[in-house]
Amino acid sequence: LRKHLIKSKKLEVVEQMGAAISHEIRNPLTAAIGFVQLLQENGVTASKRKEYLSLVKGELESAERVIQDYLTFSKPSLTSVEELNIRRELVHILAIIQPLANRNSVQIKTSFAGIGFINGDRQKLHQCFLNVLKNAIEAMPAGGILEVETLFSASHVTVTIRDNGLGMTKEQLDRLGEPYYTTKEGKGTGLGMMVVYSIVRAMKGTLRVESAPGSGTVFHFIFPSAKSKTLDSFPIE
Ligand code: ADP
Ligand code: MG
Repeated sequence: LRKHLIKSKKLEVVEQMGAAISHEIRNPLTAAIGFVQLLQENGVTASKRKEYLSLVKGELESAERVIQDYLTFSKPSLTSVEELNIRRELVHILAIIQPLANRNSVQIKTSFAGIGFINGDRQKLHQCFLNVLKNAIEAMPAGGILEVETLFSASHVTVTIRDNGLGMTKEQLDRLGEPYYTTKEGKGTGLGMMVVYSIVRAMKGTLRVESAPGSGTVFHFIFPSAKSKTLDSFPIE
């Protein structure tokens, strides 16, 4: 397994990404409008009509993917830091992702020992884990097992997300988090992991990724525990 540490210089571009991302949404919308205009013309044949409609659908899906991977993150006005019960948040996030897991024959296994709190923005934390969980499920096209574990100490909260999917080569691992880097031709934004790294950094956490082609990928998130609620004050739930 190859280990990989978060590199912050990779992330410096992120702050300037907002304008670029809006293009990523505007371009497919503009294209969709163009096809709708063609559809409105007189004498469009049934087969052309079918073709234009499918192009419109493709462009709208493309815009929707960008919004899904990026939207929460791009709303700085919503930022509000609070103490988050990591287990509670994960249970909520897993309920959101469960239908996607079901559709892909992915079984979700959890191991939540104890209770721990971190300081962070709830929406951004959700976006972060949703992006990683979505990738994990997408990496298991023939089904598989998705494991989510938490570990708590007085100083740190660790979240481990493991899949037994396609895995990544060293080259892929090196490029993880690079804006627009995707191996999902026509179906990926390449924005999900960039957003993940940025959120982890904002929450003063670290992310370590281990992966090997054919055997799967493990994401280790480590966040500092929220000060006022440590293990000592909450030995059991
Ligand atoms: P997208 O999912 O739109 O391709 P991301 O930024 O979310 O963009 O992910 C970038 C790339 O990283 C993916 O295209 C994929 O190649 C790789 N990747 C991310 N997570 C995993 C995983 N769990 N297993 C295998 N490859 C992954
Ligand atoms: Mg993704």
